[in-house]
Amino acid sequence: MLTPIQELESSLLHEQAVRVWVKRDDLTDPLISGNKWRKLRYNIEAICATEHRRALTFGGAFSNHIAAVAAAGHRYRFTTIGLIRGDRPKQLNPTLQLAADQGMELHFIDRQQYRNKEALLSHWQERAAPFFVIPEGGSNTLALRGAAEVIPELNRQMNPMPEIICLSAGTGGTAAGLLAALEGSSRVEVFPALKGDFLGEVIEQLVESYKGLKPRNWELITDYHFGGYAKFSPELIQFINAFKQAQGIELDPIYTGKLFFAVFDRIRKGIYPPGSRVLI
Ligand SMILES: *Cc1c(COP(=O)(O)O)cnc(C)c1O
Repeated sequence: MLTPIQELESSLLHEQAVRVWVKRDDLTDPLISGNKWRKLRYNIEAICATEHRRALTFGGAFSNHIAAVAAAGHRYRFTTIGLIRGDRPKQLNPTLQLAADQGMELHFIDRQQYRNKEALLSHWQERAAPFFVIPEGGSNTLALRGAAEVIPELNRQMNPMPEIICLSAGTGGTAAGLLAALEGSSRVEVFPALKGDFLGEVIEQLVESYKGLKPRNWELITDYHFGGYAKFSPELIQFINAFKQAQGIELDPIYTGKLFFAVFDRIRKGIYPPGSRVLI
C-alpha cells in the first residue's frame, strides 16, 4: 500500500520558495483511513489470529479510532466492543452512528469511571472476556510498527528526503512510529491537536519502549490546538473551506485542519528557510 505523494502549489509557497508535499494517506480507504489503517493493520492480524476474534477498545465520542476499529471488525469479521467516554447522547453523532452501523457494541462510560482504565478494564474483563484490547487511540506496539512503515515508503518515493516532516498528534502513537523509523537528517515536527505539552514525554516514552532509544531530530509545536481537542474557530473553518477550494483536499477540523493551518502559518511567518522541502 504505497499512498501517493502530491505536491501543493500556491502563490504563498512560491513567494516563500518552500515546497510542500502531502502524503495522501487519506486515500487508503474511505472507512479505515490514514494513520488509523496503518495503526490497525497489525492489530487486525493479531485479532484474526485469535480463536475468539473479539476486540475491545476505548475512545471519545468523536474518535476516528473508534469508527476505524468498528469498520475493521465488520470487514475482517471480528466482534468489536467500544467503551465510549461520557453519557449516551439522545442521538448518536456521525462517528458513533458509523461505528454502530458497522456492528460495534457501544457502551457509554461515565467520565469518572473512564479515567481509571485499569479498573474499567478489569470490570469489562469479568463481563465480556475473552477479547483483544486495543488501547485508547490504538497506540500499542503493533500500531507503532504500522506507522513506522511511512518512513521506508518515503525513502522510496522522495529523493532527496524532505527536510521537514509534519504531522498531527492525538495520542502520539503515529508520531512515535515515524520517529522510531526516522533516519538521516529529516526533522519531524509534531503538532498536537490537544492543549498542553504532555505529549512530548508520551512520545519519547513510546519510542524508547519500542526501540530502546530516545527519538532525535524532532520538535513538538504546541500552539495550534485552537483551544483544545475538537475545539475550533471560524478562522480554522474558513481555512479548511479555502483549502478544499484551492487544493481539492478535504481536511478535518480535529487534526488535519489544524495541522495544515499551522504549517501554512509557519510558512507565512518565514519559519522555514527558502528552499525548504516540507512533507505533511
Ligand atoms: C487519529 C488521528 C491522529 C492522531 O493520531 P495519534 O497516533 O493518536 O497521535 C492524527 N491525525 C489524524 C488525521 C487522525 O485521524
